[in-house]
Amino acid sequence: MAAMTTSETESPEVRTPSNFLRDLIAEDVRTKKYGDAQIQTRFPPEPNGYLHIGHAKAICLDFGLADEFVGKTNLRFDDTNPEKEEQEYVDSIQKDVRWLGFEWERLCYASDYFVQLYEWALQLIKAGKAYVDDLTAEEIRQYRGTLTEPGKDSPYRNRSVEENLDLFVRMKNGEFPDGSCVLRAKIDMASPNLNMRDPVMYRILHATHHRTGDEWCIYPMYDYAHGQSDSIENITHSMCTLEFADHQPLYRWYIEQLGIFPSQQIEFDRLNLTYTLLSKRKLLQLVQEGHVRGWDDPRMPTLSGIRRRGFTPEAIRAFVASVGVTRTNGIVDIEMLEHFQRDDLNRRARRVLAVLRPLKLVIDNYPEGQEEFVEVANNPEDPSAGTRQVPFSRELYIEQDDFREVPPPKYFRLSPGKEVRLRNAYFVTAQRVVKDERGNLVEVHCTYDPASRGGNSPDGRKVKSTMHWVSAAHAISAEIRLYEKLFTKTDPGDFEEGESFLVNLNPNSLEILTEARLEPSLANAQPGEHFQFERVGYFCPDPDSKPGELVFNRTLPLKDTWAKIEKKAGA
Ligand code: ATP
Ligand code: MG
Repeated sequence: MAAMTTSETESPEVRTPSNFLRDLIAEDVRTKKYGDAQIQTRFPPEPNGYLHIGHAKAICLDFGLADEFVGKTNLRFDDTNPEKEEQEYVDSIQKDVRWLGFEWERLCYASDYFVQLYEWALQLIKAGKAYVDDLTAEEIRQYRGTLTEPGKDSPYRNRSVEENLDLFVRMKNGEFPDGSCVLRAKIDMASPNLNMRDPVMYRILHATHHRTGDEWCIYPMYDYAHGQSDSIENITHSMCTLEFADHQPLYRWYIEQLGIFPSQQIEFDRLNLTYTLLSKRKLLQLVQEGHVRGWDDPRMPTLSGIRRRGFTPEAIRAFVASVGVTRTNGIVDIEMLEHFQRDDLNRRARRVLAVLRPLKLVIDNYPEGQEEFVEVANNPEDPSAGTRQVPFSRELYIEQDDFREVPPPKYFRLSPGKEVRLRNAYFVTAQRVVKDERGNLVEVHCTYDPASRGGNSPDGRKVKSTMHWVSAAHAISAEIRLYEKLFTKTDPGDFEEGESFLVNLNPNSLEILTEARLEPSLANAQPGEHFQFERVGYFCPDPDSKPGELVFNRTLPLKDTWAKIEKKAGA
């Protein structure tokens, strides 16, 4: 199945900027570098955590570019660390890739290739290109040298082929304990590239693997497994992030020594976002220590987290396309992602009336017991979304923030004697307040002008404010979860010695409101739907919702700070 192309799925104003990866593939196609073979890419996550927004960039590149060149993309689990990997992660990764809008050609696992990788290791040993080393991990580190000093040979480096074969087979057969020896490639202990100083190919690990069980007690290292897995799958363009650039000579060395399909590795910049940590290890720590409610906590930068928060695959793809690719790591403002999300929701979200912090508003001259319905547009951006009827009656709720008994300067909302418009309904003028014995405001009484029905001025008189409302008798209640940034610092990885990134956690990243009142049309809202609560923000039902006990997440408030940043920068 082909992945969706960018042009089909993005908003018209978002054009994919050209990038060097596309240019390079185009050149390989033009020169027939791989003959008539199709362009083949792969997305190779390690199933040791949930995917995050950084992975979305890699996914869009791997799938998107292959698709542009009528190629194919495999989803390959890089499952060579049995201690950290789990089926739960394998499942979540598949779900998230599909949610982003992509379908893989083949589902593969590096562990599918364990036998082949083992046979190739035997081949390298026989060619005198690999040896079993008894040095400890610490000794190997010491012998490796530094960037300025060459390494020195291990005393085991010149073992005979027969001895190496015997020892390696016994490693595989489980005769030795963990850590007692390793298989190393015999390359060059004086190479200026530390990765080429006899890298470890296999280690002993008596651990149960989530797929192969206890079949193996030796496991290949990333560098030994990755390129060969690419080669087995005839991957033409193996795209990865820049930290692997120094590994590229080793990637090529294994493929050349084995004389197998010449996959090529190409590196691009990692996506980094302000106020955001994109490291599975740290995200796992947040989950395990209970700083968030789980991998899919709406404050998490995981795909499952932002999905639950109400982000959409369309917005993420448009964002990633707009960020582009380069050969230097940078950092992107989180506001830019939010801007793309607002843009998408502005087009698709149905407008509804909802009051987060209610204040009772009683219309003294509206007949008691009377009700009527006012017509409200579902989405002014999209006339085809139609209209709906919203009940109106004598007792309403408005936002507490929309009334001030003593208005500060430039406060144009409701205050005693002031007239405002209730959206799509009537003009009302506040008359008096009712307080409890402790002096707290309980309700506001007002009068309405029946001639202003629909919210239209009867005689050309103007009001400075239009407010949202819900009818008290008809409203439904809901819990509302408001999210702020999870970290207080633009770079959450910035902390003093002896501290951890946890010091940068925002203690106020979640606020729960339990008194909210919503228009009744929301009674059947389902997770996966998107709404704009007029004047308040974008919201979506949370999967915690039960019939009669709705829970909504705030995806984003309405205010678009990115548009401002961009304007300031003169962009
Ligand atoms: P983490 O550090 O979060 O564990 P990782 O790089 O170890 O990330 P993998 O599962 O190995 O995670 O990544 C799968 C693919 O996604 C790799 O090709 C990797 O280069 C890419 N990738 C990971 N993080 C990012 C990111 N922030 N931006 C772009 N690509 C990324
Ligand atoms: Mg990794």
